[in-house]
Amino acid sequence: MKTGDDKFKILVVEDSTYNLHVIEKILEDQYVVGKAMTAQEGLKAAQIFSPDLILLDIILPDANGFDLLVRLKEMETTKKIPVILITGLDSEAAEEWGFRLGAVDYIKKPFRETIVKARVNTQIRAIKQLQVLEKMSLLDALTGISNRRAFDQQIQHEWSHALRNRCEVSLLMLDVDQFKEYNDTYGHPQGDVMLQRITQVVQGTLKRSLDVFCRYGGEEFAVLLPGTSLQGARIVAERIREAVAQTEVYNSETKCITRPTVSIGAATAFPARGDKLSDLIERADRLLYQAKSKGRNRVESGEQNVV
Ligand code: GH3
Ligand code: MG
Ligand code: MG
Ligand code: MG
Repeated sequence: MKTGDDKFKILVVEDSTYNLHVIEKILEDQYVVGKAMTAQEGLKAAQIFSPDLILLDIILPDANGFDLLVRLKEMETTKKIPVILITGLDSEAAEEWGFRLGAVDYIKKPFRETIVKARVNTQIRAIKQLQVLEKMSLLDALTGISNRRAFDQQIQHEWSHALRNRCEVSLLMLDVDQFKEYNDTYGHPQGDVMLQRITQVVQGTLKRSLDVFCRYGGEEFAVLLPGTSLQGARIVAERIREAVAQTEVYNSETKCITRPTVSIGAATAFPARGDKLSDLIERADRLLYQAKSKGRNRVESGEQNVV
């Protein structure tokens, strides 16, 4: 996702130095322009430069642009990059063939500045919108933190990382205590305010940038602690429990103050081949329910890798 002044990157694959120069002049104010003059260079640049958009000439010295388009669409790292074909061929059949192979648009030579800009800007706008949607689809609307979908992706990623790098990964499962009663007493909107407040408090206790805090569902949250031992996880869990228990939530309508509490299950894994990620989640969940049954507002943690 681009932020601030980050410019989108456009790769131009074109064998004519003159045309390359013309396109660069048209686009360089708004974009970072990468250049390649052969299909082989283009393929390499698509992987290394990782452009957001490719402008691809159909007639190249070492291969035809259609073949390169096919290669780009086959490769995992490049298949999502939109490609606009550029050509001097005035043939609808070529245009149709390009679309069939996955091109998103077509620009004809000789270039007209306004047309090149408009076509490129349209694609970049679509990419930006997609990125916003992708980002939103990973966030929880009420609290603004990662949602369950993001959690599922992230924990899978951290598990694989821990397996590869032989390190630990810890997981905390948190559940707000007696939240139904709070909702029933003060109403759902006030319950929502409470969830937002608890989110802020928990977020304030997390120190490492690698820690991932998610709303797992309803009034249940998960904290993923990569590279953290069980001992470390216990400390973080206790810090969270304590911070929430000290929080006072004021209800302006009833003028009442409520002190919420959370119960937490903390589990750690040192993943080895054959271990299952779902076991770690189940362990943390089981420990959470032990914390509930032992009276709430407490942390329960198991031994490492003990099911
Ligand atoms: P326990 O201590 O055993 O966890 O008791 P509890 O009342 O918290 O647990 P229970 O599972 O019975 O109730 C969970 C409640 O959380 C029920 C539901 O009304 C509330 N809840 C879930 N999601 C939301 C939400 O998005 N907003 C609000 N306001 N309430 C929610
Ligand atoms: Mg050419
Ligand atoms: Mg619950
Ligand atoms: Mg609850």
